[in-house]
Amino acid sequence: MSAPIKQHLIDPEICIRCYTCENTCPIGAIEHDDMNVVVNADVCNFCMDCIPVCPTGSIDEWRVVTTPYTLEEQYSWTEMPPQEDIGGSEAETGLEALDDAMVALLAEAHKGAGGKARAPATAAKPTVNLHTLGRPVTAKVTGNFRLTDDPEHDVRHIILDFGAQSMPVLEGQSIGIIAPGLDDKGHPHLPRLYSVSSPRDGERPNFNNLSLTVKRDPVGVCSSYLCDLEPGAEVKVTGPFGATFLMPGDASAHLLMICTGTGSAPMRAFTMRRQRTGKAGGMTMFFGARTPESLPYFGPLKKVPADLLDQHLVYSRSPATQKEYVQDRILAEREKVRALLDDPDTYIYICGLRGMEAGVDAAFAEIAGDMGQSWPDLRDALREEGRYHVETY
Ligand code: NAP
Repeated sequence: MSAPIKQHLIDPEICIRCYTCENTCPIGAIEHDDMNVVVNADVCNFCMDCIPVCPTGSIDEWRVVTTPYTLEEQYSWTEMPPQEDIGGSEAETGLEALDDAMVALLAEAHKGAGGKARAPATAAKPTVNLHTLGRPVTAKVTGNFRLTDDPEHDVRHIILDFGAQSMPVLEGQSIGIIAPGLDDKGHPHLPRLYSVSSPRDGERPNFNNLSLTVKRDPVGVCSSYLCDLEPGAEVKVTGPFGATFLMPGDASAHLLMICTGTGSAPMRAFTMRRQRTGKAGGMTMFFGARTPESLPYFGPLKKVPADLLDQHLVYSRSPATQKEYVQDRILAEREKVRALLDDPDTYIYICGLRGMEAGVDAAFAEIAGDMGQSWPDLRDALREEGRYHVETY
């Protein structure tokens, strides 16, 4: 029997099919078909470049195997296979050293949540990858509304209707949008991922529709396509995707939501879900934007009662206020945040710009220090309990 080796794999349940890993891999070890994104064991050299760019942690799957899983096997998976029993002596053959090196590399590579995310134990079971790249579903645009007054910052609320076709989404999940046409290599565009900003029963309750929050990017093919869509237009959609950035079903849970810009999309979905169900165990939000005029949903947010949602809207470029990032306000409210970190019913969600991760992490580390705790340890414990979620691009 050949000596066991460590194989790098991708969890098809958690993967949101953003293809960032595939685009990042410097040696072409990652590829996809209509169903899954997979790693070629013959090519992967464990460089770890793909680890930090993955927004969900689905990239962080490893198995010790005597025969590596083939691409065909990986393409057929809907969930990860368990670790095979390879016997004690083989498992130890030279693997411990490899593991140590890899653990060190992974620790270095991991930012964000600091490891693989887990769904809250009480979250509803999500549907994943129902509509694939090869068989996308067609939705109809029923609304496209501008959310921001800043002429330089065009953010849209886009409503898609699925008619009689099934598209079951939970708050926190994403869908893929396939822009028409070809990319610069002459290939059809890959889907671009957008967080759903409406609750599970639809933007309009009990209609089979959902909403997206999309910022126009002058060089972004898909965002420009979406922002220009007229009602009645048809759009090709894949998904839903995402099995961990989900809200707890537990009504007593407190949601601590930290977001920037369009990263507010899932937070809107969470808030609306709680408004509609009347289950409000408490919600606190730190939301950063350049100005009030560029903050998506500024008007509607102002109408959410303070006893439902404790809002901290901060601005980095408003002439009326001093420059402030979410992490500055988290520190300014450190007593409140400390009490939330101490509360076993608190669930933390961070979504938006990748650049905010380090600042938010440092703010939490300072507050954990006030509590006499190590933030990496506390963060690991929260993540293992499905109470710490980071999704940043
Ligand atoms: P934006 O307007 O460019 O920025 C929002 C705010 O974040 C601004 O006030 C900005 O300040 C601030 N900011 C910049 N760097 C920061 C840092 N290091 N720490 C804390 N705050 C910082 O935001 P946007 O264009 O809407 O972008 C939102 C991002 O979220 C996009 O990258 C998008 O892809 C991502 N997103 C992710 C998801 C998801 O993960 N599911 C969903 C939706 C959107 P200044 O620019 O003034 O410095």
